[in-house]
Parts: sequence; structure tokens; C-alpha cells
Amino acid sequence: MRAEFGETAYRSWLKPLTLDSVLNGTVRLLVPTRFMRTWIESQYSERIGDLWRAENANVKSVEISLAGNRACKPELPEVVESPAVADAEISAPLDNRFTFNNFVVGKPNELAFAAARRVGEAEAVPFNPLFMFGGVGLGKTHLMHAIAWQIRETMPNRRIIYLSAEKFMYQFIRALRYKDTMAFKEQFRSVDVLMIDDVQFIAGKENTQEEFFHTFNALVDQNRQVIISADKSPAELEGIEDRMKSRLGWGLVAELHPTTYELRLGILQSKAEQMGAVIPIRVLEFLAHKITSNVRELEGALNRIVAYANLVGRPINLDNTQDVLHDLLRANDRRITIEEIQKRVAEHFNIKLSEMHSSRRSRAIARPRQVAMYLAKQLTARSLPEIGRKFGGRDHTTVMHAVRKIEELRQTDAGFAEDVELLRRMLEG
Ligand code: ADP
Ligand code: MG
Repeated sequence: MRAEFGETAYRSWLKPLTLDSVLNGTVRLLVPTRFMRTWIESQYSERIGDLWRAENANVKSVEISLAGNRACKPELPEVVESPAVADAEISAPLDNRFTFNNFVVGKPNELAFAAARRVGEAEAVPFNPLFMFGGVGLGKTHLMHAIAWQIRETMPNRRIIYLSAEKFMYQFIRALRYKDTMAFKEQFRSVDVLMIDDVQFIAGKENTQEEFFHTFNALVDQNRQVIISADKSPAELEGIEDRMKSRLGWGLVAELHPTTYELRLGILQSKAEQMGAVIPIRVLEFLAHKITSNVRELEGALNRIVAYANLVGRPINLDNTQDVLHDLLRANDRRITIEEIQKRVAEHFNIKLSEMHSSRRSRAIARPRQVAMYLAKQLTARSLPEIGRKFGGRDHTTVMHAVRKIEELRQTDAGFAEDVELLRRMLEG
């Protein structure tokens, strides 16, 4: 971690970490203070997970906990464990912070919020499925967890499974491997509420889709609540069978739109309050103006300035905010997306944009695709698996191979190197 994050970061944040346990694919690390936990979660835990996985592929998540009082969960609402813990094996853990109370409602998310509330409160299934979609960090997962918390509280006997589509696939593949698909089917088909997060992940995965489709139909037919999230509307999902798409749109489809200034400001105020931090309104307004990408980044920025103020013991103002966040602010000034890269590269090489996602392998198409993957790695903060996903659900090794291949070609072919350089400048311009 020292090599990865640098000496300063290592000393201030990472060295104090201690290992508590590695259990069922979850690494649990302990930190001395709550404030450090927030900070490490937002800044480092994802990368720590990646590094850990590189050593031990069984590790699925990293959990940062407070040392000393692990049993008590501060700042979080009281939640009584329900009989639904029987599903703990298969269901992913819920984030305590993701409740309806902690969700700030504004124009962009009011429909999704209202729909989620209805589903959480209703005795009988109001619409099936509830399909929520929108870009990264706009609150899909938050709303799904909020529904689950609400149901657990008011109808503790209902069996709930909440899973990412990725985990669904993982479980399914494991069941196949251990010839245990009956039990797998049983588990899913006997729940009252099934939530599958980020369903776009099963694009192109035919067997998983098939299994999901059957589970989905079985549940909807029995009038059990199904809740789905995705990054796109059912009709726009790529690599998902048509019958599935149409079925997904049968219930209520609610979009989470990109945030507005007002919503961002509201969220910042609410989070600052939750953190017990006193931050001048001018600073919050500044952040709401500047950080427009998504709510997760907004939270990250807030955590960072609060951390800074605590560390150096100075009040927060506009000056030090700009200082502490200058990298974030710059990135938000000019953020290059993978879609943009694909579009530019396709134009440049005169191929159809859809070829970026296609499986065709002729060189005239594969090469530009590799260039786009290479640029995506260079110009965005996306990980290899994430990039692979954006290129028609390709594997991360394919992306790695593309990056190497292009690097190699740049060394040996000056004309090609110039092409790539030109594209890069155009995108960065
Ligand atoms: P998604 O699943 O859509 O990518 P998440 O639900 O994970 O996004 O949200 C990212 C972060 O932003 C979470 O910490 C979540 O609590 C927060 N967040 C998003 N929207 C809101 C909102 N309207 N009010 C409060 N917090 C929000
Ligand atoms: Mg999510």
C-alpha cells in the first residue's frame, strides 16, 4: 500500500489499519476512529480490495470497522435482525446508511423515491417489477437498500434477497459447478422480495440470463415483488434478450436523472449535518456548482475537507477547500468518458460506433476497438473490468491485452503512434 498510495497517505491513513479477519470472502480491517473509517472507506477501500484480490481471488469485499466497539454501530439507525437472516448466506449485506430517511429528494429522483417508498410500505405488490435506472452514483443502490430496511422493519417475516447481478451470476455458476442448481432455484423462488442490482451486468451472459429470466417469471407469476436496477432503461439495455427487456418494462420504470444544483446542495447540507461538521454555506454552494458528476464524488469531497479540517485543526473556507480538492475539481472541469472515447475513435477510423461493442474480430474493427480501450485506460480512472464491460461485456484480460498491443505498436509504428497521440490530444483538448 505504501508503494501504491505514497508514504504520506500510507502513514496517515493506512499504517494504523489492523487485520481482524478474513471470513466468507470478506476482509475486515479495523481502524481506531470513526472519522478514519469514513475516510478510508471513501478513498482507499476499493483499491485495497483490488490489491487483496490480486493475492487472493476469493476475497470479495473489504469492510472497514471501528476497533474497540465492533458490536455497536454508531450513527446508524436501530435495526432488529429479522428472521430473514436465513437468507444471509445468499443475500448481500445492506448498508446501514442507505435508508429512506437519509435520502434527499429532488426533482431528478422524486419518481424513483416515491415508487421505492410505495414498494417498501405496501402490503400488496403495487407494481411488478419496479425497475429503477440511471447513471453511476445517483442513488439506485441506496433506494434498494432503503426498501429492504423498511420491509425488514415493518414486515419482518418477509424473506428478502438483495444481490448485485454480478453476485447472482457468481452464485449461479457456483451452483452449476457443485451440481446444486435445485437448491439455488429453491432459494430464489421462495423469496417474497427479490432485488437485483445493476442488472446490466448479465448482458451477454446467456446462461445466467436464462436462469434469471426463469426466476423472474416464477416470482412475478406468484405475485412476489421483484425490484431491478440498471444503468439504462429496459429498452436501451444492450446484450439482453428482447423478451427479457420487454418483461422488465412491464411494471413501473423510474429513472434517476442526473442531479441538479439544488439537489446537490440539499445532499451536501444533509451529509454535513450527519457528519456533525460545520461548513460555511458558501463552501457547500461552491461544491454543488463544481462537482457535478455524481453523488458519490460529492460525498468524497465533503469527507475530504472535513478530514482536512480535523487534521490541521483549521476551519473550512473557500481557499483551503480549493486547495484540498484541486485534483477533484480539475477532473470535474474536464472529465473524459468512455463513451466519448469510443465515439471519437470510431469517427477517426471510420467505423460504426456499435462496433465498439460488437464481437467482430476483423482487424479493421478490432484495432480501433483496442485503441479505444487503450485510451480508456489512459484517460479515465476506470478499472480494467469496468472498461471491459463498456466494450460489450468483454473480459478484463482482453482489455489488458489491448493495452499491451497498442503500447507495442506505438513503439514500432511511428505513423500509428501519431494517430493515437492525435486522438489523445483531441480528447483531452
Ligand atoms: P448507484 O447505485 O446509483 O450507483 P448509490 O446508491 O450507490 O448509487 O449512491 C452513491 C452514493 O451517493 C451513496 O453513498 C448514496 O448514499 C449517495 N446518494 C445518492 N443519491 C442520494 C440522495 N438523493 N440523497 C442522499 N444520498 C444520496
Ligand atoms: Mg449501485
